[in-house]
Amino acid sequence: MSHPQRITVLGATGSIGLSTLDVIARHPERYQVFALSGFSRLGELEQLCLKHRPQFAVVADADAARVLQGGLQAAGLATRVLWGEAGLCEISAHPDVDAVMAAIVGAAGLQPTLAAVEAGKKVLLANKEALVMSGALFMQAVRKSGAVLLPIDSEHNAIFQCLPGDYARGLPAVGVRRILLTASGGPFRETPLADLEHVSPEQACAHPNWSMGRKISVDSASMMNKGLELIEACWLFDARPAQVEVVIHPQSVIHSLVDYVDGSVLAQMGNPDMRTPIAHALAWPQRIDSGVPPLDLFAVARLDFQRPDEQRFPCLRLARQAAEAGGTAPAMLNAANEVAVAAFLERRIRFPEIAGIIDEVLNLEATVPVGSLESVLQADARARSLAGEWLNRHGR
Ligand code: NDP
Ligand code: MG
Repeated sequence: MSHPQRITVLGATGSIGLSTLDVIARHPERYQVFALSGFSRLGELEQLCLKHRPQFAVVADADAARVLQGGLQAAGLATRVLWGEAGLCEISAHPDVDAVMAAIVGAAGLQPTLAAVEAGKKVLLANKEALVMSGALFMQAVRKSGAVLLPIDSEHNAIFQCLPGDYARGLPAVGVRRILLTASGGPFRETPLADLEHVSPEQACAHPNWSMGRKISVDSASMMNKGLELIEACWLFDARPAQVEVVIHPQSVIHSLVDYVDGSVLAQMGNPDMRTPIAHALAWPQRIDSGVPPLDLFAVARLDFQRPDEQRFPCLRLARQAAEAGGTAPAMLNAANEVAVAAFLERRIRFPEIAGIIDEVLNLEATVPVGSLESVLQADARARSLAGEWLNRHGR
């Protein structure tokens, strides 16, 4: 490409969004910010617009759009401010966009990410919930449009790097026996089980190795994050759930591994800093500086591995069950989890009740095959309403 690649960053005000802008700013000759989106952090979005001078910015609603448009005009910027899902889909599919970083958190990212896929863009996928909800439809859309899908989730980016360069589809065809998905185990890996009743949102969000948004931090503490990643890996790499094994690796230096039939096990290593997978996906198949310091193996000194304990982490078992059930089960798992995590962050439920709510929702509602996006959105809405009923019934 002769011109700098024009990038849309969905979820620019978040943790992944800011890391993406950090990498982009290191390479002005290669990348140009085309559009940025934010949601609640309007002041931060304004600052990002002043720095990166995008053609478009997208906010939550018309009122926020008016406020931001006024601020940017006063500063002499020609940025056009759009709003809502239609605005997000517009900046994802715009003909002038080369690549889209999909870094909105949760189901809210589904339609804008799909819009980028359907427009055949290079899609850098951080928003794992979108793929978990709509896996079959999402991957069909990738194949139909010819979009280039690059995983940003550090584990999936690692697996992508450990698979053959010409990897297309079907793990057995390239001699892969298993995917080994590493997990740090989060902040509660060794907390006495009885104490989990009393842990606070602050403790859940204090991840030992990674600095991330609040929702994914809670998911890491419950290991639902690893459950969502298991489902994500199945779609991205055409794997069956039984081919993906979760390995607790507390140092978070190995980001995942691929086990081949000849006994070779390839790992991708690095400091736990999301700028590495972001830079990898932005420049792929080339390599660029990400700003991440070199890995100091002498400082790491040792690498530990443990089997996950499903009694401690029931969310992992629930996610594996949903992966095996297929159909609408992963969309319901995801939606129930989003409601439960939000309630936990608002101190309305205790930490172990997150798994309790998801378990109940999955038991109450039959799984049906996914025929269309409509059926995914219906399953999402139904699971949210059942999780809401749980909260009401328990007076939360
Ligand atoms: P953050 O909470 O830090 O950021 C989320 C972004 O989404 C923000 O820009 C936020 O805007 C925006 N947003 C929130 N709700 C909505 C909504 N309803 N509509 C539109 N935009 C919305 O999350 P992270 O950056 O940590 O995570 C983003 C995604 O990347 C998640 O899917 C996560 O699982 C995935 N991921 C993150 C990793 C990490 O290290 N952080 C690692 C691997 C994957 P605002 O802040 O202005 O409200
Ligand atoms: Mg991850």
